[in-house]
Amino acid sequence: MATHTVYKEPAPLIDRENPLESMMSRFNVAAEILGLDEETYNVLKTPDKQVIVHIPVTMDNGKVRVFEGYRVIHNTILGPSKGGIRYDKNVYLDEVKALAAWMTWKCAVVDIPYGGAKGGIICDPTTMSAGEIERMTRAYTLALKDVFGPDRDIPAPDMGTGPREMAWLMDEFSKTVGMTSSAVVTGKPLVMGGSLGRTEATGRGVMVSCLAAMVKLDMKIEETSVAIQGFGNVGSWTAKLMFDKGLKIKAVSDISGAYWNADGINIDEAIAYKNAHGGRLEGFTGAVPMDPDELLTSEVDVLVPAAVEDVITEHNAPYIKAKLIVEGANGPTAASADPIIYAKGISVVPDILANSGGVTVSYFEWVQNKQGFKWTAEMVTERADRIMSDAFEKVYQTSLKYNISLRIAAYVVAIDKVAQTYKFRGGF
Ligand code: NDP
Repeated sequence: MATHTVYKEPAPLIDRENPLESMMSRFNVAAEILGLDEETYNVLKTPDKQVIVHIPVTMDNGKVRVFEGYRVIHNTILGPSKGGIRYDKNVYLDEVKALAAWMTWKCAVVDIPYGGAKGGIICDPTTMSAGEIERMTRAYTLALKDVFGPDRDIPAPDMGTGPREMAWLMDEFSKTVGMTSSAVVTGKPLVMGGSLGRTEATGRGVMVSCLAAMVKLDMKIEETSVAIQGFGNVGSWTAKLMFDKGLKIKAVSDISGAYWNADGINIDEAIAYKNAHGGRLEGFTGAVPMDPDELLTSEVDVLVPAAVEDVITEHNAPYIKAKLIVEGANGPTAASADPIIYAKGISVVPDILANSGGVTVSYFEWVQNKQGFKWTAEMVTERADRIMSDAFEKVYQTSLKYNISLRIAAYVVAIDKVAQTYKFRGGF
Protein backbone atom coordinates (compact mmCIF):
# COMPACT_ATOMS: atom_id res chain seq x y z
CA MET A 1 0.00 0.00 0.00
CA ALA A 2 1.21 3.49 -0.81
CA THR A 3 2.35 5.66 2.09
CA HIS A 4 1.41 9.34 2.25
CA THR A 5 3.78 12.16 3.11
CA VAL A 6 3.36 15.90 2.69
CA TYR A 7 6.38 17.34 0.92
CA LYS A 8 6.97 20.75 2.46
CA GLU A 9 10.56 21.64 2.95
CA PRO A 10 11.17 25.36 2.57
CA ALA A 11 14.86 26.02 3.08
CA PRO A 12 15.67 28.67 5.71
CA LEU A 13 15.52 32.09 4.08
CA ILE A 14 18.42 33.60 5.98
CA ASP A 15 18.65 37.37 5.63
CA ARG A 16 15.89 37.54 3.02
CA GLU A 17 13.29 40.25 3.35
CA ASN A 18 9.70 39.26 2.88
CA PRO A 19 9.00 40.06 -0.82
CA LEU A 20 5.42 40.98 0.00
CA GLU A 21 6.63 43.62 2.45
CA SER A 22 9.18 44.84 -0.12
CA MET A 23 6.43 45.17 -2.73
CA MET A 24 4.03 46.89 -0.30
CA SER A 25 6.56 49.47 0.88
CA ARG A 26 7.06 50.67 -2.72
CA PHE A 27 3.31 50.49 -3.38
CA ASN A 28 2.71 52.69 -0.31
CA VAL A 29 5.15 55.36 -1.51
CA ALA A 30 3.59 55.45 -4.99
CA ALA A 31 0.04 55.47 -3.56
CA GLU A 32 0.98 58.47 -1.42
CA ILE A 33 2.43 60.36 -4.42
CA LEU A 34 -0.73 59.67 -6.40
CA GLY A 35 -3.03 60.57 -3.50
CA LEU A 36 -4.75 57.20 -4.00
CA ASP A 37 -8.16 57.10 -2.30
CA GLU A 38 -8.59 54.76 0.65
CA GLU A 39 -11.13 52.45 -1.03
CA THR A 40 -8.91 51.72 -4.05
CA TYR A 41 -5.88 51.37 -1.76
CA ASN A 42 -7.70 48.75 0.29
CA VAL A 43 -8.79 46.84 -2.81
CA LEU A 44 -5.29 46.78 -4.30
CA LYS A 45 -3.32 45.92 -1.17
CA THR A 46 -4.82 42.41 -0.93
CA PRO A 47 -5.20 39.74 -3.60
CA ASP A 48 -8.66 39.10 -5.09
CA LYS A 49 -8.28 35.38 -4.51
CA GLN A 50 -5.76 32.88 -3.16
CA VAL A 51 -6.08 29.15 -3.58
CA ILE A 52 -4.01 26.52 -1.75
CA VAL A 53 -4.10 22.97 -3.09
CA HIS A 54 -2.63 19.71 -1.85
CA ILE A 55 -1.76 17.45 -4.72
CA PRO A 56 -1.18 13.71 -4.25
CA VAL A 57 1.32 12.37 -6.79
CA THR A 58 2.52 8.77 -7.22
CA MET A 59 6.31 8.90 -7.26
CA ASP A 60 8.43 6.48 -9.28
CA ASN A 61 9.09 4.39 -6.17
CA GLY A 62 5.36 3.71 -5.81
CA LYS A 63 4.89 5.99 -2.79
CA VAL A 64 2.39 8.86 -2.87
CA ARG A 65 3.77 12.28 -1.98
CA VAL A 66 1.46 15.24 -1.33
CA PHE A 67 2.73 18.54 -2.70
CA GLU A 68 1.46 21.94 -1.62
CA GLY A 69 0.62 24.34 -4.47
CA TYR A 70 -0.69 27.88 -4.75
CA ARG A 71 -2.44 30.14 -7.21
CA VAL A 72 -2.93 33.76 -6.23
CA ILE A 73 -5.03 36.12 -8.34
CA HIS A 74 -4.04 39.63 -7.32
CA ASN A 75 -6.33 41.71 -9.51
CA THR A 76 -8.45 41.40 -12.69
CA ILE A 77 -9.79 44.93 -13.24
CA LEU A 78 -7.68 45.32 -16.43
CA GLY A 79 -8.48 41.86 -17.84
CA PRO A 80 -7.92 38.14 -17.22
CA SER A 81 -5.10 37.48 -14.77
CA LYS A 82 -1.71 36.48 -16.09
CA GLY A 83 1.29 35.03 -14.32
CA GLY A 84 3.81 32.23 -14.22
CA ILE A 85 4.03 29.02 -12.23
CA ARG A 86 7.16 28.44 -10.16
CA TYR A 87 8.46 25.01 -9.13
CA ASP A 88 10.96 25.50 -6.33
CA LYS A 89 11.58 24.17 -2.84
CA ASN A 90 11.55 27.71 -1.42
CA VAL A 91 8.11 28.72 -2.78
CA TYR A 92 5.92 30.23 -0.05
CA LEU A 93 2.60 32.03 -0.01
CA ASP A 94 3.83 35.57 0.69
CA GLU A 95 6.29 35.24 -2.19
CA VAL A 96 3.49 34.11 -4.54
CA LYS A 97 1.30 37.01 -3.34
CA ALA A 98 4.09 39.50 -4.05
CA LEU A 99 4.79 37.99 -7.46
CA ALA A 100 1.05 38.11 -8.30
CA ALA A 101 0.87 41.81 -7.42
CA TRP A 102 4.03 42.52 -9.44
CA MET A 103 2.24 40.93 -12.43
CA THR A 104 -0.64 43.41 -12.03
CA TRP A 105 1.80 46.33 -11.99
CA LYS A 106 3.91 44.88 -14.81
CA CYS A 107 0.94 44.43 -17.18
CA ALA A 108 -0.26 47.94 -16.34
CA VAL A 109 3.20 49.48 -16.96
CA VAL A 110 3.39 47.99 -20.46
CA ASP A 111 -0.30 48.74 -21.03
CA ILE A 112 -1.53 45.24 -21.90
CA PRO A 113 -5.08 44.17 -20.98
CA TYR A 114 -4.26 41.71 -18.20
CA GLY A 115 -4.52 41.51 -14.45
CA GLY A 116 -1.93 39.80 -12.29
CA ALA A 117 -1.56 36.29 -10.86
CA LYS A 118 1.13 33.83 -9.87
CA GLY A 119 1.32 30.16 -8.95
CA GLY A 120 3.81 27.81 -7.43
CA ILE A 121 4.39 24.35 -6.06
CA ILE A 122 6.78 23.57 -3.21
CA CYS A 123 8.96 20.94 -4.85
CA ASP A 124 12.50 20.35 -6.02
CA PRO A 125 12.16 19.59 -9.75
CA THR A 126 15.91 18.89 -10.01
CA THR A 127 15.41 15.70 -7.98
CA MET A 128 12.22 14.56 -9.75
CA SER A 129 11.86 12.45 -12.89
CA ALA A 130 10.02 13.79 -15.96
CA GLY A 131 7.16 11.39 -15.17
CA GLU A 132 6.83 12.69 -11.61
CA ILE A 133 6.85 16.31 -12.80
CA GLU A 134 4.23 15.49 -15.46
CA ARG A 135 1.90 13.81 -12.95
CA MET A 136 2.34 16.73 -10.53
CA THR A 137 1.67 19.31 -13.28
CA ARG A 138 -1.46 17.50 -14.46
CA ALA A 139 -2.76 17.12 -10.89
CA TYR A 140 -2.13 20.84 -10.20
CA THR A 141 -4.02 21.74 -13.40
CA LEU A 142 -6.98 19.55 -12.44
CA ALA A 143 -7.05 21.04 -8.94
CA LEU A 144 -7.20 24.53 -10.47
CA LYS A 145 -9.42 23.83 -13.48
CA ASP A 146 -12.07 26.26 -12.23
CA VAL A 147 -9.49 29.01 -11.71
CA PHE A 148 -7.63 28.74 -15.04
CA GLY A 149 -9.26 29.69 -18.34
CA PRO A 150 -8.33 31.58 -21.53
CA ASP A 151 -10.50 34.54 -20.49
CA ARG A 152 -10.12 34.06 -16.74
CA ASP A 153 -6.59 33.20 -15.61
CA ILE A 154 -3.72 32.38 -17.96
CA PRO A 155 -0.58 30.72 -16.52
CA ALA A 156 2.91 30.83 -18.02
CA PRO A 157 6.37 29.46 -17.16
CA ASP A 158 8.53 30.81 -14.34
CA MET A 159 11.53 29.40 -12.48
CA GLY A 160 11.59 25.61 -12.71
CA THR A 161 8.97 25.39 -15.47
CA GLY A 162 9.10 25.77 -19.24
CA PRO A 163 7.36 24.81 -22.50
CA ARG A 164 7.20 21.14 -21.49
CA GLU A 165 5.13 21.86 -18.35
CA MET A 166 2.95 24.35 -20.26
CA ALA A 167 2.18 21.65 -22.86
CA TRP A 168 1.02 19.25 -20.10
CA LEU A 169 -1.05 22.01 -18.49
CA MET A 170 -2.70 22.90 -21.79
CA ASP A 171 -3.44 19.23 -22.54
CA GLU A 172 -4.93 18.53 -19.10
CA PHE A 173 -7.04 21.69 -19.11
CA SER A 174 -8.23 20.93 -22.67
CA LYS A 175 -9.48 17.51 -21.49
CA THR A 176 -11.56 19.13 -18.75
CA VAL A 177 -13.35 21.42 -21.24
CA GLY A 178 -13.61 18.82 -24.02
CA MET A 179 -11.77 20.83 -26.68
CA THR A 180 -8.29 22.10 -27.46
CA SER A 181 -7.83 25.30 -25.49
CA SER A 182 -4.53 26.77 -26.69
CA ALA A 183 -5.03 30.22 -25.18
CA VAL A 184 -5.30 28.90 -21.59
CA VAL A 185 -1.53 29.07 -21.17
CA THR A 186 1.42 30.82 -22.79
CA GLY A 187 5.04 29.80 -23.16
CA LYS A 188 3.95 26.66 -25.03
CA PRO A 189 6.21 24.81 -27.48
CA LEU A 190 6.18 26.44 -30.94
CA VAL A 191 4.46 23.49 -32.63
CA MET A 192 1.42 23.76 -30.38
CA GLY A 193 0.74 27.49 -30.57
CA GLY A 194 3.76 29.01 -28.87
CA SER A 195 4.92 32.37 -30.22
CA LEU A 196 8.11 33.00 -32.12
CA GLY A 197 10.31 35.20 -29.96
CA ARG A 198 8.84 34.12 -26.60
CA THR A 199 11.92 32.23 -25.37
CA GLU A 200 14.20 35.25 -25.69
CA ALA A 201 11.49 37.88 -24.96
CA THR A 202 12.36 38.65 -21.33
CA GLY A 203 16.09 38.91 -22.01
CA ARG A 204 15.38 41.05 -25.04
CA GLY A 205 13.25 43.43 -22.99
CA VAL A 206 16.04 43.65 -20.39
CA MET A 207 18.49 44.53 -23.17
CA VAL A 208 16.14 47.10 -24.77
CA SER A 209 15.40 48.84 -21.45
CA CYS A 210 19.10 48.78 -20.53
CA LEU A 211 20.03 50.50 -23.81
CA ALA A 212 17.22 53.05 -23.30
CA ALA A 213 18.57 53.88 -19.82
CA MET A 214 22.13 54.08 -21.16
CA VAL A 215 21.03 56.73 -23.66
CA LYS A 216 19.59 58.84 -20.81
CA LEU A 217 22.80 58.37 -18.78
CA ASP A 218 24.99 59.13 -21.78
CA MET A 219 26.74 55.74 -21.54
CA LYS A 220 28.43 54.48 -24.72
CA ILE A 221 27.95 50.83 -25.75
CA GLU A 222 31.62 50.29 -26.56
CA GLU A 223 32.71 51.60 -23.15
CA THR A 224 30.17 49.71 -21.04
CA SER A 225 30.81 46.53 -19.04
CA VAL A 226 28.19 44.28 -17.46
CA ALA A 227 27.86 41.64 -14.72
CA ILE A 228 24.90 39.24 -14.91
CA GLN A 229 23.73 37.07 -12.01
CA GLY A 230 21.83 33.97 -13.19
CA PHE A 231 22.38 32.18 -16.49
CA GLY A 232 18.96 30.61 -17.04
CA ASN A 233 16.36 31.80 -19.51
CA VAL A 234 16.54 35.49 -18.57
CA GLY A 235 20.24 35.75 -17.69
CA SER A 236 21.61 33.84 -20.67
CA TRP A 237 19.38 35.60 -23.22
CA THR A 238 20.17 39.00 -21.72
CA ALA A 239 23.88 38.14 -21.90
CA LYS A 240 23.63 36.88 -25.49
CA LEU A 241 21.67 39.90 -26.76
CA MET A 242 23.87 42.42 -24.93
CA PHE A 243 27.00 40.63 -26.19
CA ASP A 244 25.66 40.80 -29.76
CA LYS A 245 25.08 44.54 -29.31
CA GLY A 246 28.74 45.01 -28.32
CA LEU A 247 28.53 45.37 -24.54
CA LYS A 248 31.39 43.73 -22.63
CA ILE A 249 30.04 41.02 -20.31
CA LYS A 250 32.71 40.69 -17.62
CA ALA A 251 30.90 38.38 -15.19
CA VAL A 252 28.18 35.72 -15.29
CA SER A 253 26.99 33.23 -12.70
CA ASP A 254 24.65 30.36 -11.98
CA ILE A 255 24.14 28.19 -8.91
CA SER A 256 27.51 26.47 -9.59
CA GLY A 257 29.44 29.73 -9.08
CA ALA A 258 30.46 33.04 -10.68
CA TYR A 259 32.93 33.56 -13.54
CA TRP A 260 34.96 36.69 -14.38
CA ASN A 261 36.92 37.83 -17.41
CA ALA A 262 38.13 41.45 -17.44
CA ASP A 263 38.51 41.30 -21.25
CA GLY A 264 34.91 40.19 -21.68
CA ILE A 265 33.34 36.72 -21.78
CA ASN A 266 32.48 35.20 -25.14
CA ILE A 267 28.79 34.54 -24.41
CA ASP A 268 28.29 32.23 -27.41
CA GLU A 269 31.00 30.01 -25.92
CA ALA A 270 29.50 30.23 -22.42
CA ILE A 271 26.06 29.18 -23.71
CA ALA A 272 27.55 26.33 -25.77
CA TYR A 273 29.50 25.20 -22.68
CA LYS A 274 26.40 25.30 -20.48
CA ASN A 275 24.37 23.32 -23.03
CA ALA A 276 27.08 20.68 -23.28
CA HIS A 277 27.51 20.37 -19.48
CA GLY A 278 24.09 19.59 -18.05
CA GLY A 279 22.86 23.20 -18.11
CA ARG A 280 25.58 24.50 -15.77
CA LEU A 281 28.64 26.78 -16.21
CA GLU A 282 30.71 24.76 -13.72
CA GLY A 283 34.24 24.31 -15.10
CA PHE A 284 33.82 27.00 -17.81
CA THR A 285 37.33 27.90 -18.98
CA GLY A 286 36.52 31.17 -20.78
CA ALA A 287 36.67 33.02 -17.43
CA VAL A 288 38.12 32.56 -13.95
CA PRO A 289 35.97 31.63 -10.94
CA MET A 290 35.05 34.50 -8.62
CA ASP A 291 33.21 34.70 -5.30
CA PRO A 292 29.49 34.76 -6.27
CA ASP A 293 28.80 37.50 -3.70
CA GLU A 294 31.49 39.67 -5.28
CA LEU A 295 29.76 39.61 -8.67
CA LEU A 296 27.18 42.07 -7.32
CA THR A 297 29.83 44.55 -6.18
CA SER A 298 32.29 43.98 -9.02
CA GLU A 299 33.96 46.70 -11.10
CA VAL A 300 31.33 47.02 -13.88
CA ASP A 301 29.08 49.75 -15.27
CA VAL A 302 25.85 47.73 -15.42
CA LEU A 303 24.59 45.07 -13.02
CA VAL A 304 21.82 42.67 -14.09
CA PRO A 305 20.43 40.48 -11.30
CA ALA A 306 18.58 37.75 -13.22
CA ALA A 307 18.22 34.89 -10.73
CA VAL A 308 16.26 35.21 -7.48
CA GLU A 309 14.74 37.74 -5.07
CA ASP A 310 16.46 39.89 -2.47
CA VAL A 311 20.07 39.54 -3.56
CA ILE A 312 20.76 43.28 -3.33
CA THR A 313 20.35 44.20 0.30
CA GLU A 314 21.23 46.99 2.72
CA HIS A 315 24.41 44.99 3.44
CA ASN A 316 25.91 44.87 -0.05
CA ALA A 317 24.25 47.98 -1.59
CA PRO A 318 26.88 50.38 -0.14
CA TYR A 319 29.58 48.49 -2.09
CA ILE A 320 27.90 48.36 -5.51
CA LYS A 321 30.06 50.04 -8.14
CA ALA A 322 27.72 49.84 -11.16
CA LYS A 323 26.01 53.10 -12.16
CA LEU A 324 23.03 51.25 -13.62
CA ILE A 325 21.11 48.22 -12.33
CA VAL A 326 18.66 46.53 -14.70
CA GLU A 327 16.46 44.03 -12.87
CA GLY A 328 15.94 40.87 -14.93
CA ALA A 329 14.68 38.90 -11.92
CA ASN A 330 11.51 39.69 -10.01
CA GLY A 331 12.24 41.49 -6.73
CA PRO A 332 16.05 41.18 -6.71
CA THR A 333 16.43 44.35 -4.62
CA ALA A 334 15.19 44.37 -1.03
CA ALA A 335 13.23 47.53 -0.20
CA SER A 336 15.75 48.34 2.55
CA ALA A 337 18.42 48.78 -0.14
CA ASP A 338 16.40 51.35 -2.15
CA PRO A 339 17.43 54.49 -0.18
CA ILE A 340 21.11 53.46 -0.22
CA ILE A 341 21.07 52.92 -3.97
CA TYR A 342 19.18 56.16 -4.57
CA ALA A 343 21.60 58.15 -2.38
CA LYS A 344 24.56 56.70 -4.30
CA GLY A 345 23.03 58.02 -7.55
CA ILE A 346 22.69 54.56 -9.08
CA SER A 347 19.86 54.32 -11.62
CA VAL A 348 17.66 51.22 -11.40
CA VAL A 349 15.42 50.01 -14.21
CA PRO A 350 12.98 48.14 -11.95
CA ASP A 351 11.77 44.59 -12.46
CA ILE A 352 8.18 45.55 -13.29
CA LEU A 353 9.53 47.49 -16.28
CA ALA A 354 12.79 45.72 -17.21
CA ASN A 355 11.51 42.13 -17.33
CA SER A 356 8.07 42.88 -18.77
CA GLY A 357 9.16 41.82 -22.29
CA GLY A 358 8.23 38.26 -21.24
CA VAL A 359 4.61 38.98 -20.41
CA THR A 360 4.35 41.24 -23.46
CA VAL A 361 5.22 38.40 -25.84
CA SER A 362 3.06 36.03 -23.76
CA TYR A 363 0.23 38.44 -24.52
CA PHE A 364 1.15 38.24 -28.22
CA GLU A 365 1.02 34.44 -27.99
CA TRP A 366 -2.48 34.60 -26.48
CA VAL A 367 -3.62 37.07 -29.18
CA GLN A 368 -2.25 34.76 -31.91
CA ASN A 369 -4.02 31.74 -30.36
CA LYS A 370 -7.28 33.68 -30.30
CA GLN A 371 -6.75 34.97 -33.86
CA GLY A 372 -5.77 31.50 -35.08
CA PHE A 373 -2.96 33.22 -36.95
CA LYS A 374 0.80 33.05 -36.49
CA TRP A 375 2.88 36.24 -36.54
CA THR A 376 6.38 36.36 -38.00
CA ALA A 377 9.40 36.72 -35.71
CA GLU A 378 9.91 40.25 -37.09
CA MET A 379 6.35 41.28 -36.16
CA VAL A 380 6.82 39.96 -32.62
CA THR A 381 10.20 41.62 -32.09
CA GLU A 382 9.26 44.95 -33.62
CA ARG A 383 6.02 45.24 -31.61
CA ALA A 384 7.62 44.07 -28.34
CA ASP A 385 10.57 46.46 -28.70
CA ARG A 386 8.17 49.35 -29.33
CA ILE A 387 6.10 48.50 -26.24
CA MET A 388 9.26 48.29 -24.11
CA SER A 389 10.64 51.60 -25.42
CA ASP A 390 7.30 53.39 -24.94
CA ALA A 391 6.93 52.00 -21.40
CA PHE A 392 10.49 53.04 -20.53
CA GLU A 393 9.88 56.60 -21.80
CA LYS A 394 6.60 56.91 -19.89
CA VAL A 395 8.25 55.76 -16.66
CA TYR A 396 11.26 58.01 -17.27
CA GLN A 397 9.05 61.07 -17.85
CA THR A 398 7.06 60.24 -14.69
CA SER A 399 10.30 60.05 -12.69
CA LEU A 400 11.23 63.55 -13.93
CA LYS A 401 7.74 64.93 -13.27
CA TYR A 402 7.72 63.88 -9.60
CA ASN A 403 11.50 63.83 -9.07
CA ILE A 404 11.41 60.17 -8.00
CA SER A 405 13.33 56.99 -8.82
CA LEU A 406 12.43 54.94 -11.90
CA ARG A 407 11.17 52.23 -9.54
CA ILE A 408 8.63 54.43 -7.79
CA ALA A 409 7.77 56.03 -11.14
CA ALA A 410 6.93 52.58 -12.57
CA TYR A 411 4.60 51.90 -9.61
CA VAL A 412 3.01 55.35 -10.09
CA VAL A 413 2.33 54.63 -13.80
CA ALA A 414 0.88 51.20 -12.99
CA ILE A 415 -1.23 52.13 -9.98
CA ASP A 416 -2.57 55.21 -11.77
CA LYS A 417 -3.80 53.09 -14.70
CA VAL A 418 -5.46 50.54 -12.41
CA ALA A 419 -6.99 53.24 -10.18
CA GLN A 420 -8.36 55.17 -13.17
CA THR A 421 -9.93 51.97 -14.51
CA TYR A 422 -11.65 51.45 -11.13
CA LYS A 423 -13.00 55.00 -11.32
CA PHE A 424 -14.53 54.38 -14.76
CA ARG A 425 -15.83 50.90 -13.97
CA GLY A 426 -17.01 51.69 -10.45
CA GLY A 427 -19.15 48.99 -8.87
CA PHE A 428 -17.90 48.65 -5.30
P1 NDP B 1 15.69 29.89 -14.76
O1 NDP B 1 15.29 28.81 -13.81
O2 NDP B 1 15.71 29.64 -16.21
O3 NDP B 1 17.14 30.46 -14.37
C1 NDP B 1 17.49 30.88 -13.08
C2 NDP B 1 19.00 31.05 -13.09
O4 NDP B 1 19.42 31.58 -11.85
C3 NDP B 1 19.77 29.75 -13.28
O5 NDP B 1 20.93 30.00 -14.03
C4 NDP B 1 20.12 29.37 -11.83
O6 NDP B 1 21.27 28.55 -11.77
C5 NDP B 1 20.46 30.75 -11.33
N1 NDP B 1 20.47 30.88 -9.88
C6 NDP B 1 19.58 30.45 -8.96
N2 NDP B 1 19.96 30.84 -7.74
C7 NDP B 1 21.11 31.54 -7.90
C8 NDP B 1 21.99 32.19 -7.03
N3 NDP B 1 21.76 32.22 -5.73
N4 NDP B 1 23.09 32.81 -7.56
C9 NDP B 1 23.34 32.79 -8.88
N5 NDP B 1 22.54 32.19 -9.76
C10 NDP B 1 21.44 31.57 -9.27
O7 NDP B 1 14.71 31.12 -14.40
P2 NDP B 1 14.38 32.38 -15.30
O8 NDP B 1 15.61 32.84 -16.00
O9 NDP B 1 13.14 32.11 -16.07
O10 NDP B 1 13.96 33.43 -14.16
C11 NDP B 1 14.93 34.21 -13.46
C12 NDP B 1 14.22 35.36 -12.79
O11 NDP B 1 13.55 36.15 -13.79
C13 NDP B 1 13.14 34.98 -11.78
O12 NDP B 1 13.10 35.96 -10.79
C14 NDP B 1 11.86 35.06 -12.61
O13 NDP B 1 10.71 35.27 -11.82
C15 NDP B 1 12.18 36.26 -13.46
N6 NDP B 1 11.40 36.37 -14.68
C16 NDP B 1 11.41 35.38 -15.63
C17 NDP B 1 10.69 35.54 -16.79
C18 NDP B 1 10.77 34.56 -17.91
O14 NDP B 1 10.20 34.85 -18.97
N7 NDP B 1 11.43 33.44 -17.75
C19 NDP B 1 9.81 36.71 -17.00
C20 NDP B 1 9.94 37.72 -15.97
C21 NDP B 1 10.68 37.52 -14.86
P3 NDP B 1 21.14 26.95 -12.05
O15 NDP B 1 20.58 26.78 -13.43
O16 NDP B 1 22.55 26.53 -11.97
O17 NDP B 1 20.22 26.42 -10.99
